[in-house]
Amino acid sequence: MHPDVPVCSLCTEPAVVYQRSLNLHLCGTHFTADVEQRVADTIKTRQMIVPHDRVAVALSGGKDSTALLLLLHHLLPLWEDVRLIAITIDEGITGYREETIQSAEQLTSWLGIEHHCMSFSSLFGNSLDTFLKGRETQACSICGIMRKKVLVVGAQQARATKLATGHNLDDEAQSVLMNVLRGDLPRLVRNSSRESSGKFIPRIKPLSRISEKDIATYLMLKDAWSELPECPYTRYAVRLEVRTMLSGFEYKHPGTMLHLLESKEKIERIGKDSVISEPLRSCPECGDPCSGDLCQMCLLRQLLDR
Ligand code: SF4
Ligand code: ZN
Repeated sequence: MHPDVPVCSLCTEPAVVYQRSLNLHLCGTHFTADVEQRVADTIKTRQMIVPHDRVAVALSGGKDSTALLLLLHHLLPLWEDVRLIAITIDEGITGYREETIQSAEQLTSWLGIEHHCMSFSSLFGNSLDTFLKGRETQACSICGIMRKKVLVVGAQQARATKLATGHNLDDEAQSVLMNVLRGDLPRLVRNSSRESSGKFIPRIKPLSRISEKDIATYLMLKDAWSELPECPYTRYAVRLEVRTMLSGFEYKHPGTMLHLLESKEKIERIGKDSVISEPLRSCPECGDPCSGDLCQMCLLRQLLDR
């Protein structure tokens, strides 16, 4: 081995990754084992999966959801009688979705996982591209609300008991900061697993403590990395600015993103019974969970009908 190549801090193999926040050099085997262990710990600590669960995994075919499905499939032996089902949404975004849907199909058939595809057109009567004409700057807010609705319908149809999404540490830290910047305290303290009450399917985020960079490295080491096109509406996302700012902070001060997520979790615990935590009730129009007078989807329907 070249004398300049660092050695894994846990064995004698060459290191492929330096974990700045832990000050550890790791080889491929120890890095993938570390990611798998951290995901298993997150699931266990927050009791995200329990025996006999049917877990619907939101699989876009992109990096995060591909890693999520691979990881959950790998960890399946940890739980008794747990089944995975993948749900892919076709929003109707020209030149973007075709490749990711194909990649989702290949992955599920390789892993032998039941796969359901659902489209905006079949549920809402039109593609996202059509809905967004003249409203491009609101793309991600509109798309996000519609996707959430399709996922819930898909998970209900698949008789799932949990709905897993591939949100990673960067996504979670960005959301915390965006809610703070918007002054949206109720959303900051809202815990999606609260939606487990009654007929709502609890949403779980098993990758919430794994950074985007670690997910990319994991996929490369698992030979599951592929370069896919980016959504053409990404350029309108406010999130992009927050993302750039946070990445800079994380680079200079390793651990920043995890600290933000932990702060949110602490506030969530303190705020759960306080007045800032708006009670969750059923939307009078459609019965979905909502904290205002109408759920986000019913409000959006009114906006799109105008
Ligand atoms: Fe939807 Fe925005 Fe994601 Fe594109 S980038 S798929 S518009 S949420
Ligand atoms: Zn509603």
